[in-house]
Amino acid sequence: MKLISLAELIEEYDDNLSRRSTYEALRERDVLRAHPVLENLIKQRNAVQVDYLQMILREPHRKNELEEEARPILTALDQQIGEYREQNNVTEEPPHYECDICQDTGFAGDGYCICLKKKAYVRVIGAYDLESFSGDLSDYSFEIFTDPDDKARASKMVRYLKKQYEDYPVVRKKQLVLLGKAGTGKTYVIRRFLRTMAEKEQDICYISARNLFDYFHQDRLGETDGVDLLYEAKILAIDDLGSEPMTQNVTREYLFDLMNVRKEKGLLTVFVSNNNLDELNNRYTERIVSRLLSVNDSDVFQFEGKDLRLVR
Ligand SMILES: [Zn+2]
Repeated sequence: MKLISLAELIEEYDDNLSRRSTYEALRERDVLRAHPVLENLIKQRNAVQVDYLQMILREPHRKNELEEEARPILTALDQQIGEYREQNNVTEEPPHYECDICQDTGFAGDGYCICLKKKAYVRVIGAYDLESFSGDLSDYSFEIFTDPDDKARASKMVRYLKKQYEDYPVVRKKQLVLLGKAGTGKTYVIRRFLRTMAEKEQDICYISARNLFDYFHQDRLGETDGVDLLYEAKILAIDDLGSEPMTQNVTREYLFDLMNVRKEKGLLTVFVSNNNLDELNNRYTERIVSRLLSVNDSDVFQFEGKDLRLVR
């Protein structure tokens, strides 16, 4: 999928809003054309309101008095308007928003609304659409494990992840690291974990290392406008760490920075990698790997066993 910039996504929100308000204005105009009595009542009401506001501007000290005069007139007109609408079945359509939090503006509180963030993760940064995956931890299947040791390890892992979900947003350790050879079920379990977490936390960015570092590379070239989203996502899960191409002044630097910033903010970061310890050290240097696998900050799970894709 071709990525867009954050600015373009925000522009889409603006376009949709103005298209909608045009549509609503046109619809109201058609209604009033068919109902001149209603149009008259609304005109009267607006006129009273305007008169009243102008009088307040001229005589601000009489505000309360003027308000008392105007209120019964406005109430009476509102009542007539309401009755007319009801009798003639001309209801005002309550606005329907795709997102009730931001009323489709894309902004809520002092930042982006969660609806915009979720779109941005996928369309701006290149993350997976979490909703495109099925299943969660509740229907995690242990059938794939033939080896009793593997099965025991997996069930310990699932218990741990379920506990993480129950405790969230309180998380004991802010990094969760899943290591093991390809095909040992890491991605299977992490997708289910994230889908489970999504019941409690909507702000999840789940991305392949390849797309993540692609984005960092573009950021390094000054070609992006959404990199902060990665530093601020409540949960960031990076799949297949180590599969991305190494880029000078990008891969290690951005990874180190990302871990530090997110740790400082107390945000949960999940790393999934097929690399073993030596491979990680060679790739990212010991300085980064010691932080990645830090006893204080990380829970590390090592997936061993056979290639489950072959067993299945
Ligand atoms: Zn929203």
